[in-house]
Amino acid sequence: MEALLSDLVSRVTAYHPEADVALLTQAFTFGERHHTGQRRKSGEAYFTHPVSVARVITELKLDTASLCAALLHDTVEDTKATIDDVQREFGDEVAFLVEGVTKLSKFNFTSKEDRQAESFRKMLLHMAKDIRVLLVKLADRLDNMRTLEHMKPDAQERIARETLDIYAPLANRLGISWMKSELEDLSFKYLEPDAYKLLSDKTAALMQVKDGYIRRTSALLSSRLAEAGFNAEVKGRVKHLYSIWRKMTSSRCEFEQVYDIVGFRAVVESVADCYAVLGVVHGMFTPIPGRFKDYIALPKPNMYQSLHTTVLGPERERVEMQIRTVDMNRVAELGIAAHWKYKEKSRGAGHDNVIDYKDAQRFHWLRQLMDWQKELKDPQEFLESVKVDLFQDEVYVFTPKGDVRVFPRSATPIDFAYAIHSDVGERCSGARVNGQIVPLRSQLRSGDVVEILTDSSKHPTKDWLDHAVTSKARGKIRAYLRSEQRERSLRLGRELLERALHSAGLSYNKVVKTGAITKAVEAAKLGSVEELLIHVGYGRVAVDEVVRALAPPEQKAPEAIKEGAVEKVIRKVTGRDTNGIMVSGESDVLVRFSKCCSPLPGDEIVGFITRGRGITIHRRACAKSLDLDPERKVKVEWDAGAKVPRPVCLRVITANRPGILAEVGQTFQKCGMNIEEANCRAAEADRALNLFSFTVGDLSSLKTVIRQLQKVKGVLSVERV
Ligand code: MN
Repeated sequence: MEALLSDLVSRVTAYHPEADVALLTQAFTFGERHHTGQRRKSGEAYFTHPVSVARVITELKLDTASLCAALLHDTVEDTKATIDDVQREFGDEVAFLVEGVTKLSKFNFTSKEDRQAESFRKMLLHMAKDIRVLLVKLADRLDNMRTLEHMKPDAQERIARETLDIYAPLANRLGISWMKSELEDLSFKYLEPDAYKLLSDKTAALMQVKDGYIRRTSALLSSRLAEAGFNAEVKGRVKHLYSIWRKMTSSRCEFEQVYDIVGFRAVVESVADCYAVLGVVHGMFTPIPGRFKDYIALPKPNMYQSLHTTVLGPERERVEMQIRTVDMNRVAELGIAAHWKYKEKSRGAGHDNVIDYKDAQRFHWLRQLMDWQKELKDPQEFLESVKVDLFQDEVYVFTPKGDVRVFPRSATPIDFAYAIHSDVGERCSGARVNGQIVPLRSQLRSGDVVEILTDSSKHPTKDWLDHAVTSKARGKIRAYLRSEQRERSLRLGRELLERALHSAGLSYNKVVKTGAITKAVEAAKLGSVEELLIHVGYGRVAVDEVVRALAPPEQKAPEAIKEGAVEKVIRKVTGRDTNGIMVSGESDVLVRFSKCCSPLPGDEIVGFITRGRGITIHRRACAKSLDLDPERKVKVEWDAGAKVPRPVCLRVITANRPGILAEVGQTFQKCGMNIEEANCRAAEADRALNLFSFTVGDLSSLKTVIRQLQKVKGVLSVERV
């Protein structure tokens, strides 16, 4: 352990000579003492993990507080130490970081539970306050991924999925490309083990062949550039596995057909040299049209700058060239960490906090994320939009004045309008792209000049949600639709109540004026009359309940109350348990099941109040439910032990051999299922595609059928549709 500490000290003092070695030593001792006796799954002493995390932190060239946080990051969660102990010994800054990382670690991104989405949101807020929390967490995740082989297969898959979905895109957004590539390759290894093995074998074989080519070409480029008077360092390399894999899957081709697996990078002294070197390269080799990208003039949102071009290189091989300055290369490798500056430590200064927050704020996307989160009330909606914003590739478009704006791929003029200003978004009536009027749904492409046309009588409509992709636009459109909905519900609620009260011999105006209506407000556990009316309008509160609260039973003539459309819907269904759904503890509420995802007892579900149709039940995973107004969402559960016969459909792909259909049919029978409709046809030469519709009582019976079908010889796949 001594050796580990001195290694760490020499690493940090190499880039930060004034680092607080005493504090670092203290954190090391504290961590080692508290983790004593604990072992990792590999059998190693547990404390080797925090030390490895701290080593990654030195690669990011972070400050002492971050290093201490790395060494202590698991103490609060996994040992007897408390956050107060950490605060007492190491001060507020370290304690803040440790607490942030601890909170982050509790979050399971793959779960769809609201509660967890909520903590993700809190985590992002935390992160925005101090980006170091995220950097320590990323280092922690990297070490966990490097040692994932010791975990159980299901944990491997879950952690790898989460890494690929959330952490690798975050590393990318922070511009730390080496970490992004390593996280991607490690996730790939556990998520697609066969493909990974195949690709790494093929790449290794290719390296053997290409090794000479890379050396020859690098030498050729170096000497030509030197002749032309440039001081350039040229390096060649093979792309990382996951990026090759992504290329193969996105363009549906084989490894052998992926071009430009080999790339070269020239690092030069100045920006002017970059463009001049590009000229030399294009003079030597024919450029492939459409492959030139100028990220120097148009930096990526993570501050990456470089020139990219693809040329027909020596031996007519397609190669990608990257040309950048020394500074740009540093940013490409270290990302945000390239901007830390370590000042001389002044005597008596409490700590060596050197993060230049102005630089951290260049991370425009992070700031935007924080702005938008205020408008996204539904945690799941938020999580979904964050994933979209992290993931998508960018398009670069121009305002008529020539300012550059960056959008995720498949953004439309609607996104552009909201990016200019919410008011522009709300009144946007059309767009002119490159001088031509285009529909609002048309997708923007890099280089487009976009001008938004506004009309003060125009307003957002629901179908805009189908065309907007940025979380800002989507959040604003939803907020608008929601307030419009509120107003409509308010009017409708008032109308319904007026009519119902009238039938019961009461006057709405009188009830309001005398304040009698507060009785109904209280009975419905609401805060104001307005809220009560909105709830009635939405159908959340039944209008006859309000009347009952206001009119004593003897005065009320129930027959006289005419059922309006809403009451009909919300009226309690006679006879319990017809649908097996509990809506906030009550089981006899009118519900219907959505056709898009046909939920089964056992599926995770959500309910949405639909005006005129009661409550619609969707599967939680249903994409459509995410588009629905979260204000209308209600908590629903299956009644314990509910068995509700529901139609389902299975897609069964089988080998096309005689007798197989009979066997499949028997399997259904053995499971006690009656096939109601079957649709079978030969697909490709040797396969048959079969759709079976039948009725099933709950998820576990469905799973049994699926399992039994999978056992039938010749059945290739079984899928619920
Ligand atoms: Mn850890």
